[in-house]
Order: sequence, then structure tokens, then C-alpha cells
Amino acid sequence: MKKKWANLPPKNMIVQMNEFIKNLKTPIAIVGMGKSGEAAKRLLLNLGVAPQSVLTFDGKLETADFNDPEALMTQAKPQTLVVSPGVPLTSAWIQGAKNKGAKITSEISLACSCLTTEKLMGVTGSVGKSTTVSLLGAGLEAFSKTGFVGGNLGIPFSAYAADVVEGKRPRADWIVLELSSYQLENCENLKLDYSAITYFTSNHLERYDNLEHYYRTKWNILSLTKNAMLLNSEGGDLVEYFKMNHHEQVKVVSKKDPSLANLHLEKAQLIGQHNQDNLALASSLALAAGWPSSAIEGMKSFKGLVHRLENVGTFKGVRFINDSKATAMDSVLIAATAAYDTLTNSGKLFLLLGGRDKNLPWQDLIPLKNFKGVEFVFFGECREIAQKKSLLPGESFAKLGEALDFVFGNVKTHDTVLLSPGGTSLDEFKSFEDRGNFFKKKVEDFAK
Ligand code: ADP
Repeated sequence: MKKKWANLPPKNMIVQMNEFIKNLKTPIAIVGMGKSGEAAKRLLLNLGVAPQSVLTFDGKLETADFNDPEALMTQAKPQTLVVSPGVPLTSAWIQGAKNKGAKITSEISLACSCLTTEKLMGVTGSVGKSTTVSLLGAGLEAFSKTGFVGGNLGIPFSAYAADVVEGKRPRADWIVLELSSYQLENCENLKLDYSAITYFTSNHLERYDNLEHYYRTKWNILSLTKNAMLLNSEGGDLVEYFKMNHHEQVKVVSKKDPSLANLHLEKAQLIGQHNQDNLALASSLALAAGWPSSAIEGMKSFKGLVHRLENVGTFKGVRFINDSKATAMDSVLIAATAAYDTLTNSGKLFLLLGGRDKNLPWQDLIPLKNFKGVEFVFFGECREIAQKKSLLPGESFAKLGEALDFVFGNVKTHDTVLLSPGGTSLDEFKSFEDRGNFFKKKVEDFAK
């Protein structure tokens, strides 16, 4: 969110250490020094924990105090471990520390201990989290001067708390947190006013015994929720799971709900039926929480996360969509269907496919040949294999730039140009971001 605050408390204010932090036995080891680990360290120091009592561990980062768990445990003998979501709690050495009496906690719990008046929303799910949280962020942006959006997405929660403690920002009226299942395993102080689950499908099974274990970990968000927990009616196994785990706090939300009819969610900038589901969930959360109608309008204006079905805009009557991140056939099918379903005035869809192959099942795209009025344009290193396996007709170019020049020469008003390549960017670009930015730059030139 943009910083809109003024008159902050002085930076060097004296901070009162809260009971939770006071009761943490030292030394404290921060396990995993990514963004959230760094934020946890800053928060602990800001709260007055002595620097010599805060140790850092990271299996890879050489700047950490320890790289070897055994050395950490035998030499430093930490009494508290602040474990990053990237490190499985089931790791033998963490379990060993726990059995010897060490407290296991997380940056989320540290942050929660610093909250006072903030109201919280938490979103989890197998897919759709970032989109739903970003939609809520756009809603919050429309009416709140202090709202915070972060967690698993963007800024770690401890960074918010550290900023408040340092006097760098005021307390938020609302906090929206994206929560991964790993974060939900270790968040003892977290209390949410409202929560939502976007989707249940098999994911991360390498860290769970089975699907039920994975779903149960996510469903645990309910036990942290004070008011309602909302579920997406189209969220894969969600409704089925709810039927077996009925609870009065839980409400299933659908884009067809009469209560949403007068919000005209179909007019949203974000395309795709799955995004209508995400929008229905986010809007229902906003309504439940009593957010003003400007929040709903803010969500409807949200143009999408960058490089993911990002609505770049309509120029010379042609709509451009950047889905450069799509490097799986499922994502291409979702994007193509979303763009196709929202064509107007018999406009045509130009679908740009290609990049570098990673032995992808291009044959999964065969059904796209039934979409009438779609012009497939292949580009990049894998253009031949992609075309051969997908059996789709169309022009083919060595570089994305050449493919775009062809498209620009052939588009007409009401057409849509969608970059949802399927292949990775690495044949021509450093990253999918780089490829998406190249696409947007070319569109900008076209628009001139
Ligand atoms: P996450 O943050 O949970 O990984 P995202 O919001 O980034 O999820 O979406 C990732 C992809 O998942 C999208 O590009 C889209 O293909 C798919 N997706 C998002 N929301 C939904 C939904 N509600 N139903 C089905 N698929 C979805």
C-alpha cells in the first residue's frame, strides 16, 4: 500500500517489551534467513532483545551465524527457535530441540504479540491466495490510509510490526495476510477477525503425510478465526471437505450469490471465471467485515498481479493481456479460455505461444483448435515442437519481438492479444518478468 500517513510517533521511542517476547528464553535462534527471518531479527532487536541473544541460522547463507544445525545446537544451545516456513517443523533436529525443551515459534507469532487495535483477515488455499489477497489489498487501498497487506505474499508480517515499533508507520486499521499451510502450522498468537480458504487441491504433498493432513493444516485457520470463515464454492475439494467438517462459522460463497448481484462483479478488470470466484470471495469478506462500497469498486478496478493474466490495457481498440508467468499447459488453458470468453463484438484472439521447452505436454492444448476465431502465433526456441505437438495452425517466428510485429500488423479493433506462452522465458530472456516487461514495452510502442 502507498504510505499516506503523517505525524508518526518519534523514531527513538522507548518500546515496552510485551509479555510474549519477555517470556522467550534466550538465546533465540532465527532459523532461515530469508526476508521473513531478517524481519524477525529486526523486530526482536527493536523490541529490546539483546543482540548477543539473537543468533541466525541458514543452511545456505554464509552470512548467517550458523550453517550447520548440529553446530548451532551444540555450540549455541538456543532455547527458542523462530522457524521460517521454508524449514519443515518435522526436521529431525528441530524435533530434537523441541524434545529437549526449546520453544518453537515463528515470525508470525512474534508480529502478533505486538498487535493492539488492528483487525485481521487471513487467506489461505492451494491456489488463488495471492490473487484474493491482492484484490483485498486493492479494496483496502480505496478506503484505508493505514491498511497493511502481506505475510506469505510481499512484506513479511514481522516487517510490519518492526516498522510500527520503530515508528516508521502507524498501526494499521486492517491487516490482510496471505497464509501458507506452513505458516499455519506455527502461528500460536494469530487471531483473525475473518478468514477465507480459496481452493483445496493436492499440493506440497512432499511435506505432508497425505492429502487429509494437508487439508487439515489449512482448515486449521478456522480455529484461529473469531467471526466468519468463507469458502469458495468452486474451490476444488473445499465444499466436499466442509460437508465432512461442518461448522457454524463457515459460509460457502459463490459468484452467483444474490447478495453479490448488485455489485456487478462481472464488470471487473480481472478476467477469467476463476478470478470471478476470487472476487466473489474477496467481496464477501469485505461485506462481512463492514468495508465501505468503495472497497468493492477498488477490487473491481484491480488489473491483476503483474505477469499473471495482467490486463495491460486497451490501445487502438485492442486489448492486451500479459500472462508471461504461464509456463504450464493448465495455466495457458485457463488464460486462453478467460480471454476467449471475454471477447466482444466478434473480436479475434491472438494467442502467443512458445519460449523454451521443458518437455511440456503441448498436446494438452489440442482442444484449443475448437475455439473459433483464435489466431495462434508461435515464437522462440520451442516453436516447432510446440506446434507439432499441439496440432494448432499459425505463423511461427524465431523471436517474440518478430511475432509481436506480425500481430501488430494484423490486429483490428475489439481483438485481444494474449501472451500466455507455455514455455519458459530462458531462450530469449532472463526471467518471465523480463519477458512480460518486453511485451509491455512493445505494446507501449504500438500504442503511440
Ligand atoms: P497462489 O498465491 O495460491 O499460488 P495465485 O493467486 O497466484 O495463487 O494463482 C496462481 C494460479 O492459480 C493462477 O494463475 C490461476 O491459473 C490459478 N487460480 C487462481 N485462482 C484460482 C481459482 N479460484 N480457481 C482455480 N484456479 C485458480
